[in-house]
Amino acid sequence: MQYETVIGLETHAQFHTRSKMFCGCKTDFGAPPNTQTCPVCQGLPGTLPVVNRYAVELGLRAALALRCHIAPVTQFDRKNYFYPDLPKNYQVSQNYHNLGVDGRLEIEVDGQAREVGIWNVHLEEDAGKLEHPEDTGANYTAIDLNRAGTPLLEIVSAPDMRSAGEANAYMNELAAILRHLDISDCKMQEGSLRFEAGISVRPVGGEKFGNRVEVKNLNSMSAVVKAIEHERERQVAVLESGGTVPSQTMLWDVQREVTEPMRSKEEAKDYRYFPEPDLVPIEISPEWLDQVREQMSELPAARRKRFIAELDLPPYDAGVIVEQKPIADYFEQTVEQGVEPKTAANWIMGEVMRVLNERLCEIDDLPVSPPMLAELIGLVTDDRISNSVGKTVFGEMCSSGKKAGEIVEEKGLAQISDSGELEAVVKQVLADNPDAVADLESGKQQAKGFLIGQIMRATRGKANPKLAGELIDRLTGD
Ligand SMILES: [Zn+2]
Repeated sequence: MQYETVIGLETHAQFHTRSKMFCGCKTDFGAPPNTQTCPVCQGLPGTLPVVNRYAVELGLRAALALRCHIAPVTQFDRKNYFYPDLPKNYQVSQNYHNLGVDGRLEIEVDGQAREVGIWNVHLEEDAGKLEHPEDTGANYTAIDLNRAGTPLLEIVSAPDMRSAGEANAYMNELAAILRHLDISDCKMQEGSLRFEAGISVRPVGGEKFGNRVEVKNLNSMSAVVKAIEHERERQVAVLESGGTVPSQTMLWDVQREVTEPMRSKEEAKDYRYFPEPDLVPIEISPEWLDQVREQMSELPAARRKRFIAELDLPPYDAGVIVEQKPIADYFEQTVEQGVEPKTAANWIMGEVMRVLNERLCEIDDLPVSPPMLAELIGLVTDDRISNSVGKTVFGEMCSSGKKAGEIVEEKGLAQISDSGELEAVVKQVLADNPDAVADLESGKQQAKGFLIGQIMRATRGKANPKLAGELIDRLTGD
């Protein structure tokens, strides 16, 4: 029997705000434990929360970008449960009046556009973190409340995805939107973007969904993809052997790459939601929504289309460049300097991204500004330096912060485009390689490539290869 996979994703994104959801504490990642807390986020009795207006606005940006319906009033609810990293014994979340509902996100898989429904977009607060000392043989667990109360956006998709590939496209497009609108930095390694997947299988053409398995502890997009593939195989095997797949929550084991059932105690979900009595409902006026809309930059999908239509970029290049807003901005600023778009894209996707990966840094940390890159590209396209020297110069610019022209001048890297100067070198190379010259004269064209290589070597890459070729032709009487 043929089976299809049915996937829905829950996404948690930490907002890119300086302060927490209901207090003024900082949200910096990596601060010493319990240095970013106050009585509110410690859950002390008698404290009162105050809503972070900017977090609500960031949530509205997401709801608008995901084309959700936004009701005129939204409200917070208490989700009651006990866990040591949750000092209040409830999490402030939204259940009855979500910020946005009934949205959709368009994704593209193998060149085909698909739409994934968004059930809702809502606001909540993050919990703290438990630290389990491992090496010391300690018999205790430490609690760090720095993260408690960090503003979170939860995005719940409809079970509209049918393959790991579609889920992957959904996660990437969603992350691109959240980064473009400055809603979240989406650093998965710091936990600011997290996913949970609801996975079931059913016979192809079947109307009823199979029992759903919820997979938690997915710390990377590749873990989500692997978990979906693993669950599909596992569930199909259960059905094929005549069994039934129980609805349950499972944990992804990163090392072994398998799903493991969670203890049944934690599966019981009875959160007894009720409206948060310490917070008044939030009215969302049309004027406020308009203000939020004005602060929103172009969405990634529109930007990609524009790069393809107006700048003639290949769709693949547009996809890579637009994935991160700072890179797309950098690209546009380089093009504004008069660089041909495809040439700018090649440099950014090649040299720039290589250096960013090597240094594990962001494009804003690079000492090479778009005008500086444009100057370098200009030197190459004007044949002042060769492409390979250009790459060396770029490396120097990244370490020293100097301009391309300065480095070329200082190191004498300018291409030898003067035929008088180059002729002497060519003559010497021809004299040193009589066999190759003989081959060339008997019609073996590959000998010319060898000779040009020798000329490049003798000039340390500075010879203009086109001119070198012309000189060889002239001096060998070809
Ligand atoms: Zn606080």
